[in-house]
Amino acid sequence: MAKPTRRTFMAASAAVVTAGLAGPAEAAGQPADPQLREMLREIDPKRVEAIIRRLVAFGTRHTLSAQDDPARGIGAARDWILAEMQAHAARSGGRMTVALDSFIQPVSNRIPAPTRITNVVATLRGSVTPDRVYVVTGHYDSRVTDVMDATSDAPGADDDASGVAVVLELVRVMATRAPAATIVFAAVAAEEQGLYGSDHLAQTFKDQGTDVQGAFSNDIVGTGDAHDGTPDDSRTVRLFVEGVPTAETAAEANIRRSVGGENDGASRQLGRFVTAVARQSLTGMRVRPIWRRDRYLRGSDHISFLLRGYPAARFTEPRENFAHEHQDVRVVDGVQFGDLIEFCDFGYIARVARVNAAALWSLAQAPGTPKGVVIDTTQLTNETTLRWQPNPEPDLAGYELVWRETTDPDWTHSLPVGDVTTATVDLSKDNVFFGVRAVDEAGNRSPVAAPQPSS
Ligand SMILES: [Zn+2]
Repeated sequence: MAKPTRRTFMAASAAVVTAGLAGPAEAAGQPADPQLREMLREIDPKRVEAIIRRLVAFGTRHTLSAQDDPARGIGAARDWILAEMQAHAARSGGRMTVALDSFIQPVSNRIPAPTRITNVVATLRGSVTPDRVYVVTGHYDSRVTDVMDATSDAPGADDDASGVAVVLELVRVMATRAPAATIVFAAVAAEEQGLYGSDHLAQTFKDQGTDVQGAFSNDIVGTGDAHDGTPDDSRTVRLFVEGVPTAETAAEANIRRSVGGENDGASRQLGRFVTAVARQSLTGMRVRPIWRRDRYLRGSDHISFLLRGYPAARFTEPRENFAHEHQDVRVVDGVQFGDLIEFCDFGYIARVARVNAAALWSLAQAPGTPKGVVIDTTQLTNETTLRWQPNPEPDLAGYELVWRETTDPDWTHSLPVGDVTTATVDLSKDNVFFGVRAVDEAGNRSPVAAPQPSS
């Protein structure tokens, strides 16, 4: 028998490819999806406005405010959000379920007495790979200057009725659709007291071994006009996305110090995916990635997911007016303080909802991010071999290698390698950064997974 060539020997499970075959990296994600375009059209600024007006009308939604008053306080807001989600879920053909995720937070920082905290959660079960989950949150609690003041009016129109409006609009337009993967829509509480609601939600996912492959916090997404005399920037939304993973282990940190990767954490890959699929021509919005976990002195609910090792990011408006956040409603020297609805731009918030819809739908319809991706480091060689676990999707077409110069911000080259679980390319792993993504028969691409060294 003839000695098999290296190519034929590896053909059954592997690809051996030449870097010269690579094309420019096509944008991650989706071909134009008619269902997504429909949903983007259905997102309605008038509904956004109605949601925020209703939430503001509860007076305060402070986490320590009344839980049993039907008109004022966080309990009334909780019940209204629950009823809204249930009404939308009723049109879902049983795919969407709504539940309260409720727990007692013991005495802790900014929680002076044991307090019931309740997240309101709608789950749209995936029709093909329901075990793969994406999460979107906004927080429905609000505050004024004193974070312990549970009685003063705390309209929280921008922070964060705007984020809840995004979540509720997504619930409404997606309830009648059937994404391949599962999408969880959560209005979380106690963000202002210390992320307690999202912390409980993320920990519950972790305890249940849920495969959350992306989570987004929408927090302060109310306007592109800071109302401070600076130019209006109503076509930009920031996406805060970390590089070095919050949950990085000491061993992972050692590898990163050795060979780099501070720009290739799972959240950074998620950010690249979102920028590609929520492109301005589709959503009317420029996603401006900010390569840090969050703003100075602030943190939002995506951090609860990052702490559990889940990829996550935060949407927020382009420039904030701090006179409108976390402030008692008052006028000082003719200047209006307070988080009032008059400073919200409902068209802007609808566009942020469209960005979220494009991101979530594209994630849910594409294959999942490849798992177990390693780069072979068992021998010193100037070619590169990558291995990974097979994806579970029934319509999987195969995989692509992607790479870029180590100094480039985003992937510049992609190379289809077929439906294999290992591939070798004649390029030195020392000189570029590599990644792997999955592609389905419709051409939808997953987020990229960066490899760990094989041991
Ligand atoms: Zn907030």
